[in-house]
Amino acid sequence: MAKFYAANQVDRAILSGKTIAIIGYGNQGRSQAINLRRTGNRVIVGNVEDESFRQAKSDSFEALAMDAAAARADVILLLLPDEVAPQVYPRHIAPHLNAGKTLIFASGYNVTYKFIVPPANVDVILVAPRMIGQGVHDLPARGEGFPVLVGVKQDASGNAAAMMLAIAAGIGAFMRGGAVVESSFEEETLVDLFSEHTWAGAMLFMLERAFKMLTEAGVSPEVALLELYASGELGEIGHAMASRGFWKQLGLHSHTSQFGQLTHGADFIGPDAEALMLKAIKEIRDGTFAKRWATEQAAGSSTFNRLLGEVLESPLAKAESELFTKLGR
Ligand code: NDP
Repeated sequence: MAKFYAANQVDRAILSGKTIAIIGYGNQGRSQAINLRRTGNRVIVGNVEDESFRQAKSDSFEALAMDAAAARADVILLLLPDEVAPQVYPRHIAPHLNAGKTLIFASGYNVTYKFIVPPANVDVILVAPRMIGQGVHDLPARGEGFPVLVGVKQDASGNAAAMMLAIAAGIGAFMRGGAVVESSFEEETLVDLFSEHTWAGAMLFMLERAFKMLTEAGVSPEVALLELYASGELGEIGHAMASRGFWKQLGLHSHTSQFGQLTHGADFIGPDAEALMLKAIKEIRDGTFAKRWATEQAAGSSTFNRLLGEVLESPLAKAESELFTKLGR
């Protein structure tokens, strides 16, 4: 059973007098910076001098070069894209990691696969929101929280767990509807990549195949797309899963729909599905996927760019573009 932390376990005083640097003012960085400041913390921003840097300034943050922010901070939240952080870290962050500092990640990836190996004299903590950056900003602004997975990798100071809870509280995770759940860098990496390598990717290709089959059966592209996802109903079903329950959301559909889903759905889970899930888990745990992705990037990401180009030029994408024009999106 996972351990859930309670708000009364938080000692916010551990952050008093400390400077928090947000390195990377993007999806997560901007939202977490704003929340941490709102909860009374001293926050500075480190970013390359570009649009995000100017955004930080216009949000009234002290924005600095990444080196300067890392040097000034006691607590560093490394909120760069996972594929970028290992390049930035050795030059701009590592030189400033003196004993007693805290390094915080929002994803387990780089520490799990040792693409980043922090020195032994700093605390290394995971505070990973299960929420997109926009939600991390919008939910606390209206008094609501979101779930975060947390864990301590290195506790050089003896205070890493307390710091972990103070940061989770500072970004809003303990607010109504939120949760702070014990995990680890390795577990967070496993569940995150597992979803991407199994059901999440499968759902995209399943819907694309359904579009092909429906249009070949004579359904107009517009009607097919609205049925499959463009109406937004899919998003509403996702919300209902999280609020009412995974199966209980079926109660929002007609009996005909429920009967059809319950009698047909499992047919599409072929004999290979569990074997593929096991393979995904193995390749995540033994680093095969991480190595493949690193090799791909080192070679210029040509396969990735080709695959992305193909789907963005697919019949579905073209039909979607026409539909969105008609819908004014
Ligand atoms: P973003 O893609 O929003 O980028 C964050 C920042 O990194 C931006 O300010 C960007 O600056 C900067 N950046 C990008 N490339 C470079 C570079 N080459 N050199 C220096 N700075 C660069 O990242 P996210 O906020 O999505 O992700 C941050 C962390 O949060 C990751 O660990 C991710 O796994 C984790 N996370 C993300 C979630 C999400 O929903 N997005 C959910 C939970 C965790 P600029 O814009 O100026 O280029």
